[in-house]
Amino acid sequence: MCGIVGYIGENQAAPILLDGLSKLEYRGYDSAGIAVFNDYNLEVAKAKGRLSVLAEKTDNGCGVRGSMGIGHTRWATHGEPSDVNSHPHLSMSGRFAVVHNGIIENYISLKKELSGKGFEFISETDTEVIAHLFEYYYNGDIMDAMIKVINRVEGSYALGVLCSEYPDQFIAVRKSSPMIVGLGDNENFIASDVTAILKYTRDIYYLDDNEVVVLKKDSVKVFNKDKEEVIKEKFTVDWDVSAAEKGGYEHFMMKEIEEQPKALRDTISPRIKDGKIVLDDISLTTKDIKNINKIYIVACGSAYHTGVVGKYVIEKMCRIPVEVQVASEFRYCDPIINNNDLVIVISQSGETADTLAALKEAKNHGARILSIVNVVGSAIANASDDVIYTWAGPEIAVATTKAYSTQLAVIYLIAAYMAEKLGMLTSGEYAKFIEEIESLPDKVEEILKSKEEVQYLASKFFNCHSIFFIGRNLDYAVSMEGSLKLKEISYIHSEAYAAGELKHGTISLIEDGTLVIALATGQELFDKTVSNVKEVKARGAVVMGITTEKHENMEDVADYIVKIPATHEMLLPSLTVIPLQLFGYYVASLKGCDIDKPRNLAKSVTVE
Ligand code: GLU
Repeated sequence: MCGIVGYIGENQAAPILLDGLSKLEYRGYDSAGIAVFNDYNLEVAKAKGRLSVLAEKTDNGCGVRGSMGIGHTRWATHGEPSDVNSHPHLSMSGRFAVVHNGIIENYISLKKELSGKGFEFISETDTEVIAHLFEYYYNGDIMDAMIKVINRVEGSYALGVLCSEYPDQFIAVRKSSPMIVGLGDNENFIASDVTAILKYTRDIYYLDDNEVVVLKKDSVKVFNKDKEEVIKEKFTVDWDVSAAEKGGYEHFMMKEIEEQPKALRDTISPRIKDGKIVLDDISLTTKDIKNINKIYIVACGSAYHTGVVGKYVIEKMCRIPVEVQVASEFRYCDPIINNNDLVIVISQSGETADTLAALKEAKNHGARILSIVNVVGSAIANASDDVIYTWAGPEIAVATTKAYSTQLAVIYLIAAYMAEKLGMLTSGEYAKFIEEIESLPDKVEEILKSKEEVQYLASKFFNCHSIFFIGRNLDYAVSMEGSLKLKEISYIHSEAYAAGELKHGTISLIEDGTLVIALATGQELFDKTVSNVKEVKARGAVVMGITTEKHENMEDVADYIVKIPATHEMLLPSLTVIPLQLFGYYVASLKGCDIDKPRNLAKSVTVE
């Protein structure tokens, strides 16, 4: 998410900050800003929109004079994109300017506490609490204030902080958000990644969580939380600029696949408190939940596939009927809905034209709208009664991975939240479910560690002309996503089929050597899917089975096996989809396809 650059040296800071931020544009952002110390005080310029708006406002940086400053491109998580919500944020006296990348999970309680002490908030961001906390804890020693602040905030942060009483230094820290330190000649930098500063230096320090760095023009010192100096190893970067933009990955898609554990943690962990799911974001009461007659889930593409998972999970856990529809159909089908129905709309961008139109249609019928959206302040978010944001961060690759995964996570949270309110879960079942949701990021990480196994399988099958994905229930829902992933980026024809349905027609397409990817992760229907595998094997298919480490029998029937860790039955899609994303990626890579920008596709489909 977002970008941070900081500079101290002998040159004018603002043009260097703007230049650095422009190198971070690829990370995605909705607004930008800088703060520079101008010999007297901190001068701030910020603007919603592209960096060019800020450049124009500051005369390409020439209008803001001073040789120490911090800059930020914001990707809104708390509060819509706007001038006032843009960073840097100033403390009330204007003594501190703060840029922040990440999410402060306990900002609501901090905000209440600080408001009680007379601090006034002008933005809707979580970040502003940090600026005020600095002011609150400052007693003449900036390092002291920094330690106190990081002891109070929970969540993820990369922070750059200027203090007008320290004209020759600024201070920074990171935890679970990226930030590096650039070491120059009589000038030093911080940045979200090396791209921003490669033009000036290739010597860097990597910071560990909660290491505080103090930058002067001719020195950089790093301290731990006990204020003891840490001696850092200097690294010299030899990346070219385009590799650096992708964090060393060849494609954004792989970068985003690898970001999934973090995206899942960011989405799940702030919503689980003291062993309970807390959906502060929504106003749905227990009474509202009990009154729900029917749920519709409406979305397009991969978000629709999230909805298919949602149908199985919500129906099973809450016993409320759920209908899933693609938005382009729903909007024109004169749906039978009323004010006792809940419509869940899902969209990464929050701007998907068909989904937005479907939302309006549902609203016209009086339904309550709950949206699952990744982009804060987007049209769908604004038009909904309630929004639960997926905190996946900006997704650049056209084929979604981390947005889909975080949408699934939100669906699980909603399902368990409602099931608990409806009294459908025993306290033991509820606790177990929560424990398993919380362990999903680690399990995804574990699968990613053996991604070479999937790469090997891709090398065997990348020349296929047609591939079938089969599975039952949740495995079928994930088959749909696996098949779409492959089609989108590798241009290989594939179809997802409910495993039991294949013999009602499509099995005629199976011939010698046809690859069938069989998903058999669920316990209840495992044997049924194995029978379907035998049916296709008998007709010449080569079968790649995807199953959990719990299941042994798949080895006997499938030609190749990919195993995923076991988890709660309802949560398996989050793990099953990972090898399928990797398979699509590697096949497309071996075919030499333009993975991040597949032909004919757009990231956010804002036309009908
Ligand atoms: N949570 C902060 C905000 O919404 C920072 C977002 C970012 O990382 O850009 O303002």
